[in-house]
Formats: sequence, structure tokens, C-alpha cells
Amino acid sequence: MKSAPNIPAREMEFSLETIYIDESVADHPLTLEALRRFPNTPVQHLAAYDETVETIRKTTGDVFGAGKRTLALTRFKGSFLKKCPGISPGMVCCNYYVVNLLKNCMYDCSYCFLQDFLQNNPLLVAYVNVENLLEELDQVFTAHPNRIFRVGTGELTDSLALDTVIPYSQRLIPFFNQRENAVLELKTKSICVENLLNQDSPRNVIVSWSLNPQTIIDREEKGTPGLQQRLEAARQCANKGYKIGIHLDPIIIFPGWEKAYYELVDNIFKVLSPSQIEWVSLGSFRYRGPLKQIIKERHEDTLLFTGEHVASKDGKYRYLRPLRNQIYESLRDALKKYSANLNVYMCMETREIWEGVTGKMPRSDEKLDKFFDL
Ligand code: SF4
Repeated sequence: MKSAPNIPAREMEFSLETIYIDESVADHPLTLEALRRFPNTPVQHLAAYDETVETIRKTTGDVFGAGKRTLALTRFKGSFLKKCPGISPGMVCCNYYVVNLLKNCMYDCSYCFLQDFLQNNPLLVAYVNVENLLEELDQVFTAHPNRIFRVGTGELTDSLALDTVIPYSQRLIPFFNQRENAVLELKTKSICVENLLNQDSPRNVIVSWSLNPQTIIDREEKGTPGLQQRLEAARQCANKGYKIGIHLDPIIIFPGWEKAYYELVDNIFKVLSPSQIEWVSLGSFRYRGPLKQIIKERHEDTLLFTGEHVASKDGKYRYLRPLRNQIYESLRDALKKYSANLNVYMCMETREIWEGVTGKMPRSDEKLDKFFDL
């Protein structure tokens, strides 16, 4: 680990109110590393998770927000590797695996589904037994040598935001470098790439950034680095040889959205060349019903509900289909102007939208097929 002064200022703004430690990992190197980074934060034993949450609940009306400042270091006892739960009725899924080393996130995006999903488990939890994850992955990858595994760590957190506190990337990247049939995706809004730039090899690692126009970042992505900072971090990783992915997700409709997203596309290609970008995924804002009230209570100035939403086949609310079509077509065209060869796909969308925008399903497109059938 580099010393604290080398860490970008924005990453150091993160503060914790309490650290809870499960006794079984008290001496784990990652526990000790996290404690070293927060020498003045009160530390308690993680005796009963539910009791801890109840105690927090009594002191605040925003237990989810308070959970982000309460780190629990513990051990994960089950199987880490899961098929991406993005498979839902009527949706096209990109056939992807997830591992969750962290739950919850230091950032506070207004649209984050974790606000609903983690209501009863709001603490920022880090599973430090990364060695068990690597053993499990080794067994699975070795048992299926003819399959390619695309594995992401950013389902229930930001993959890199806490990487200077709990440097998972230092264990994951060398492991994936050695594999013949697996790719790691680190999905982030952070600029916390120092550990990535210090690695020997970028082989088999995709670092992907979620991007939005700066006006959306300011209003809806609280605590996150700005657009230009993210692009600069992406440029550094691209120059190191990492493959770069871009998520324009969630695309949010607000007055002037088209101009703002076109400018975003232009900004991307001022910093990255199309050949450095492995793919761009597009996804419009979507949410499960119960999330709406939570968002309105926690983010009073949000722009998320300025547009009309309807329930889709999977129960999530989305912009009306013609508007989604317009969003995807216009952004796909804007992206493809920079390179006709750019891989652009839509995340969590219906067959009708896929066919409407691209004229085909991903499996009939040779380039996109590799993302959907790895
Ligand atoms: S960065 Fe991702 S996980 Fe973190 S708050 Fe934002 S949407 Fe949620």
C-alpha cells in the first residue's frame, strides 16, 4: 500500500463513525489494513448484527445513510460466485457472474437500488476472507476449462471506492492475470486506481466507469468524483493497458438531457480513443416501486421523477418505451459516430427495445454475442 499522502484528496473525504470487527477476522491482514487507515475511529466487536442495526435505528431516521459510515469487517461463509441476478422476466441478460466482497457503498446516489435492497442490512460490510474467494474461483474455473467466466465485483457496491482502505484489487488482479478462462470487471465511479496502476499486468481485467453529465453527478451522485476526474482515472488505466468499459447508466431524463448526454459522449472521446474502449453499455433509469418513496425522502431535490414511468414486464418502472427507444437510438448514433466498430449494448432491456434499436438480438450480432454468451 502507498502511504496516505499519495491518495487522491477526494478519496480521503470518507469518514467512518464506528468499525465493528467479527472476532474471527480480528487478525486478518485486511482487517489490520483497514484499522491502520482509520486510527481514530472507535472500534467495537461485531457481536450481533441485528442489535447493531437496531441501535443505529434508534439514533437516526436515516439508518441507510448511517450504515454507510459504519464498517463491519467479517467473514463470508457461503459461496461467493453467483450468476448475475439481472435475469428477470422479459429482459435480455448479459450472462455474467458476480462476487460480493462488499455490501453498501461510501457514495450516496439518489437512484441507488441498495437503499431499498439493503433496508434491513444497511451496514457497510466488508468480507475480508478474500483467500476463500480465490480458492473457490480456482476450483470453478479449473473445473470448467472450456467456459469463459466474466466476473464483476460491483453488484452491491462500487468496486474501487474503498480500494485504498481494503485493497481487494491487489489480490484479485494477479489472480485473474493468471487465468485462461476468466475476466474480472471492476465497475466504479471512483478515481481510486492507484493500486491498479501499481500492478505488474492488466491482463484479463476490465475497469469500467459509470458516467453521467456533470449536472446529474452534482445532483444525483452525492460524494462521487466529478466527470473529468473519472475520465482522467480511466485514461490512466487505459494507458496502463487495462481494457476500459463505459456504463452510461442510469440515463436520466431532465430538461436539456439530449444536449447534456451528447456533450458527455464528446467528453469521453476527448480523453479516450475508441480503440481503448471495450464496450459501452446504455441503461435508462429504472426502479422497483418501493424505492420511489425512499428516494423522495432521502433526496428531496432529485430530478428522477420529472419524467413519466410505467411498469415493465419485470415489475420495474421505466420511461415509456418510445422514449427509451429515442434515448438509445440517439446515444448509440452519437457513440458510433466516433467509431462504427464500438460495441454498444443495452443493459436490462426488453427484446422489443433491443430489436427496435439495433434491429437484432445480441445473439445474432457476432461482436455483442461474446458479451452475452461467455
Ligand atoms: S456508486 Fe453505485 S453502489 Fe454506490 S451509491 Fe452509487 S449507485 Fe449505489
